[in-house]
Amino acid sequence: MAHIGLVAHDEKKDDLCVWAAHHKEKLSQHELWATGTTGGRLMAATGLPVTLLKSGPLGGDQQLGAMIAEGKLDMLIFFIDPLSAQPHDVDVKALTRLATLYDVPLANNKSTADAVLAYL
Ligand code: PGA
Repeated sequence: MAHIGLVAHDEKKDDLCVWAAHHKEKLSQHELWATGTTGGRLMAATGLPVTLLKSGPLGGDQQLGAMIAEGKLDMLIFFIDPLSAQPHDVDVKALTRLATLYDVPLANNKSTADAVLAYL
């Protein structure tokens, strides 16, 4: 069972919910962790259990980064909005940086998420 982190910026939350509903069967075999708002949306959309961290701008991205640094996350699905500035951009950068540093599979869009989930 893998530990999967899930995050989506506001304009991408619908996309992530649709993606997760499509992959519900496979995701149900793993342990899911998400930033607060994303996780709440995912649970409502799929019925899957998700461990909720703080909301991203309030430290949730940093909590996921800490999990990566501690070897507790096997995969990160992070649907970034490329068209909006984020108030917590430094946290977004820190999280993607740690995923890169620790060689954690990181998917920033649907196609890559499909590929990474299939790889699991
Ligand atoms: P949220 O955080 O799931 O609490 O909205 C996501 C983010 O990092 O913007």
